[in-house]
Amino acid sequence: MGLSATPEKAFEIDPVLIIHHQKECRKGPLKIIGHYHSHPNGQAEPSIHDHAQNYDEALIWVIVSVTKKGVQETNAFATDDGQLAHMVIPVT
Ligand SMILES: [Zn+2]
Repeated sequence: MGLSATPEKAFEIDPVLIIHHQKECRKGPLKIIGHYHSHPNGQAEPSIHDHAQNYDEALIWVIVSVTKKGVQETNAFATDDGQLAHMVIPVT
C-alpha cells in the first residue's frame, strides 16, 4: 500500500508492510528480491526521492515509465557504491 501524499510524483511503502513481509519471508521459501513502481509521464530512472528511499541496498528496483499510450520503458537498478545504478536483466 502506498503512503505518499503525492502518489503521481513519489511512492512510499508502508514500513509496517515491509516488516510484515520480511517476517513472512523468514519462514521460507520466498524471499523479497526487489520492488517496482511506475513513473507516470516520467523517465524510467530513479528520482531524487527514489535514491533517498533506498533503505535496503540488497533490493533490485524496477521502474516503469508509463504514459496514456502505455508502458514506454522498463529499467532495473541495483545499488552500486551507494547509488542506484542501471543494470541489465537478460531475458531468455
Ligand atoms: Zn520513482
